[in-house]
This record gives sequence, C-alpha cells and structure tokens, in this order.
Amino acid sequence: MKQLIAANWKMNGMPDWAEKVGELARAEVSGAAELLICPPAPLLSLLCEAASDSAVTIGAQDCSADEAGAHTGETDAALIAALGARYVILGHSERRAGGESDALVKAKAERAIACGLRPIVCVGESLDVREAGEANAVVVDQLLSSIPETGDYDIAYEPIWAIGTGRVAEVADIAEMHAAIRAAVKPGPRILYGGSVKPANAQEILATSEVGGALVGGASLQMDSFAAIALHAIR
Ligand code: PEP
Repeated sequence: MKQLIAANWKMNGMPDWAEKVGELARAEVSGAAELLICPPAPLLSLLCEAASDSAVTIGAQDCSADEAGAHTGETDAALIAALGARYVILGHSERRAGGESDALVKAKAERAIACGLRPIVCVGESLDVREAGEANAVVVDQLLSSIPETGDYDIAYEPIWAIGTGRVAEVADIAEMHAAIRAAVKPGPRILYGGSVKPANAQEILATSEVGGALVGGASLQMDSFAAIALHAIR
C-alpha cells in the first residue's frame, strides 16, 4: 500500500476551505502518496463533492459507535460513508483526554468498518510514560484494547507530547515504537506517525522503517506545506 498522508484539520475550516481540495489535487503529489483530508464533520459533504473526481480522499475525525437513533450531537458512521468519505480518525488523544476509553474506540472502529469506512486508530504515550521507560508497553497495551476484532484499519502512533508542540520523537524512538506495534498487529495496517510533522522533518520520518505515512495537524492547514510533506512519501 502507498504511504497515507493524512490531514487532521481538527476544529478549523469554513465552507470556502473546500477549495483546498483542488489546490492539493493540483500539487501533483498524489502518485507518491495516498492523500487524505479529515475536515470537521459539517464540512464533510462539501469536501466529498470537491474531491469526487480527484485522487484526494476524505475522512471524518470521529464517529459514533451507535447506529442511527437518539444520540444528539453524534455522527453516524453510515452517514459519513454515504457522503463519500472513506476513513475516520478514532481515539485521537484530544478525544481520549475528554474521557474516550479504549473500549469505546474499539466499538467505534467496529461500527466504522461495518459501514464501509477504514478507521485510523490513534495511540500514543504521555511524556511521563516515556520518561519512565514504559512507552512501548503502554502504547501496545492501548493499541490491543482499541483495535477492531476484524476488518481493515490503519494505526497512527502519536506521542501526546509531540502533538502541536513542535517537539518530534527521535527517529530511533519512532522506529522502535513502530517495530513494537508491527510485532503486535502483524501485517495489514499501515502505521502512521503523527506529532509536529512538517516539510522539514517529513523526509526522515517517512523513510523510517515501518512508517506507513503521517497524520498531520498544524502543517495540514496550508496545502503548500501539506503537499511538501506528501512529496516525501516513498512507498
Ligand atoms: C494531530 O493532531 O494529529 C497532530 C499530529 O498534530 P500536529 O501535526 O499539529 O502535531
């Protein structure tokens, strides 16, 4: 599979951001990487329309574990898929910080797969855990409790202390963590790295063993920097 270069726009964007899909498609990096934009839920429809004839794919940032019904404020995975989106980010640390458990992430992933979406299951350790030398064990435990029992999915390893901080994990630590994750899940899922990925560090990160792509927050809000990251995709 190609490396997946995924934009997590978080709670950023307005309707005119649909134009960014065209900007990205014109950047001509799509042959080297699979390009994914995950906008806020209210923009999914507009972005799916804008991406319909391009190599850019669209995903959501979360979905409900439940089927359609009385769940105010939630978004049904079936609706996300019906709009034309193909992926959903699940268990991002910003959501886990609000109390989302591994069991809920797993239930969401299973519901997403049942609706035809490919989940990107996020895991990552706090700085305290890393400094205690427990990062690999904690992340693998978190992962094994969060992934679906069956179906296709990807993983994003995102050290919490590297998200939005400008701090990036050492390449040796990324390689070690990705090897530990690979040993736990066997072939199948791509293992993305996320945490302050920028054009300046993307080449080294994307060339690291077992790195199957990047999940990009801040640097994905401008298409020139996002495309510059995607240019470093190597497989
Ligand atoms: C993220 O939120 O998933 C992320 C990796 O953010 P940033 O690239 O800004 O660190």
